[in-house]
Amino acid sequence: MTGRILIVDDLSINVKLLEAKLSAEYFQVLTASNGQAALEIAAAELPDVVLLDVMMPHMDGFEVCRRLKTEPRTADLPVVMVTALSDTAYRLHGLEVGADDFLTKPVSDIALFARVRSLVRLRRLIQEWRLRDEICGHFGGGPPAALDHGPARIMIVEEDPLAAAQIASPLATHKVTVAANCAAAQAQLGRDTDLVIASLTPDDRDALHFVSYCRASEALRQTPILLIAGERDLPRLAKGLDLGANDYLVRPIDPNELVARTNIQLRRRRLQHSLDQNYRRSLALALTDELTGLYNRRYLFAHLDKLIARVNGDGVAAALLLFDIDHFKRVNDTYGHPSGDTVLQQIARRARDSVRSDDLVARLGGEEFAVVMPETGLDIAATVAERLRSAVADHPFRLGDGDATCYLTVSIGVTATHAGCDDRDRLLKRADTALYAAKAGGRNRVVARDREPVPALEIASRAGASVSL
Ligand code: GH3
Ligand code: MG
Ligand code: MG
Repeated sequence: MTGRILIVDDLSINVKLLEAKLSAEYFQVLTASNGQAALEIAAAELPDVVLLDVMMPHMDGFEVCRRLKTEPRTADLPVVMVTALSDTAYRLHGLEVGADDFLTKPVSDIALFARVRSLVRLRRLIQEWRLRDEICGHFGGGPPAALDHGPARIMIVEEDPLAAAQIASPLATHKVTVAANCAAAQAQLGRDTDLVIASLTPDDRDALHFVSYCRASEALRQTPILLIAGERDLPRLAKGLDLGANDYLVRPIDPNELVARTNIQLRRRRLQHSLDQNYRRSLALALTDELTGLYNRRYLFAHLDKLIARVNGDGVAAALLLFDIDHFKRVNDTYGHPSGDTVLQQIARRARDSVRSDDLVARLGGEEFAVVMPETGLDIAATVAERLRSAVADHPFRLGDGDATCYLTVSIGVTATHAGCDDRDRLLKRADTALYAAKAGGRNRVVARDREPVPALEIASRAGASVSL
């Protein structure tokens, strides 16, 4: 993964050093030698990450960070404070002004790439989330699912109970569980785990296996992993990051740094989760009808194409039924549109209840619906249609919350497809012609039409008494 990184430092030697390292890893680099230039470049270029020196004349890094975070255009940009001072007071001040992360000079390669990659990933997710937000707003689908800010489920993998308690203590606002080793962690971990904090010890070979196990597991692939290591474990730590761990901390653990890194990973996790949910929701919105919950026309058409291809392959017939409410306009005109909506929902339910679970019921639009029946010939389909017709005609429909009801009927056109000579348009056309014949024949009836256009076979012709409104 590459990204655009803005390096801000008043000493050009520092800028050159970081620039060389990042360019070698194919990051695009922008540079600024003072705070004012940094603010201007950040606003104009919107880089993925800002690496910000703390000690600069005129405007120090804290002030630059504060301004970036208060300006709406740049507030989302992840900022890493780069300081020669590992003093915790500086870190705390950095957090107060909104810094996302810290690097200590001289900057090690492991630290630089771990932090930059982790933040570029976060930035990508934020961008994606904002984009969906705009698109959802544009289509009136409402904002994307809100980010969860409640307690997270964090698992600490640490064999020493005292060390585990030290890690858990600054994270007390979350639901923290402790596993003494990787095997225990693997047994307890689930899709709902938001973060794993795993300790690397020199004699523990399992930790790296554990990272690769998580990354290979479908359920845990997205779960962030923070590694904790001693100075002596740095080579193995680098391996852990290569295998897919997201970030790390070095012992002794600074509680502020632990909290800051935990927050970054949780934020990423929550953005990811919200995006996944939005994806499912948009898919549902794109393929189903909001009023009735039935599949919509778009889904029906795709489904018919697949089904016809299957019929052409295996020769087993499938049937299509189109039905339309008789004189539905009168319901709206007499009782109002909301009552009409309630009736449409009841019709959808009755249709679903009248067919098998592998039959597909869709709303084509308005007061017109379709049922697709796999592995069904014309005779059976006509019988199902008759059952549906009477399920509608024989029982009254509620018109709202009160006691008012009305009787309604539907006209139904039925056809079947056989191997070889149908496509979706021909099938729909034939069902539509049958439906038209049912309307013309007096409504409240089923007309079935086989592949050959004549003769139309009238299966049921119950007296077409129209709705008494
Ligand atoms: P026919 O027996 O010939 O089908 O007569 P009809 O009145 O049912 O048919 P027409 O096509 O004249 O009228 C359909 C009506 O369905 C008009 C339209 O306002 C109403 N309609 C379409 N979609 C909706 C909806 O989502 N909600 C409500 N309440 N009414 C709808
Ligand atoms: Mg109608
Ligand atoms: Mg109509």
